[in-house]
Amino acid sequence: MPGLSLNLCLSRLRGQLGHIAFGPAEDWCVTRFDSNDETLEVYWSEPNAPYYRTSESQNGPGGGTRGWGGHAEMQMIRDFPNTTNLHGAPYLVEIFISRSPCSRSPQFNVAGHNYPVGCGKKILELVKQNPNVSVWKVVYDSVFNGSRNAPDPQATAQAEHMINILNRHPRVEALLWNEYQRRLV
Ligand SMILES: [Zn+2]
Repeated sequence: MPGLSLNLCLSRLRGQLGHIAFGPAEDWCVTRFDSNDETLEVYWSEPNAPYYRTSESQNGPGGGTRGWGGHAEMQMIRDFPNTTNLHGAPYLVEIFISRSPCSRSPQFNVAGHNYPVGCGKKILELVKQNPNVSVWKVVYDSVFNGSRNAPDPQATAQAEHMINILNRHPRVEALLWNEYQRRLV
């Protein structure tokens, strides 16, 4: 039986097939190595429920050190060493996310290494930590706009700034799914 294709995977995450695991309030993140669908990995955001926060306020300086919680990109970054072990060191990493990387998620620590505030900067740190990956594509369905319950223009402006910062990195390109999809067909 053939494995899950990228398009089917993203359709399921978007709820386009009539089913969605947690409703549209959850963000997701998918990675694929070297355009090979057999390397697809899927992550979800994990809500910061009371007493389950990953923030600096609850975990002291340096932010959360526990192995779970936070934005979907954070789950992906935590798992990245396992993913490269499993699939081998890639030339190209594609990161598909429901919304573009934020500028506000708390800093956190993975295997003794600190990742700064904001998922955009965390991704840049991941890029820096993996110098052998030549090309990174950060592909988002829409621009981050803050809390789903209370979208705010400031979060959007910061997210757009984050997209610009990502695009300034010579090995990174950040763009909308609608733009990227044309290259895949
Ligand atoms: Zn984030």
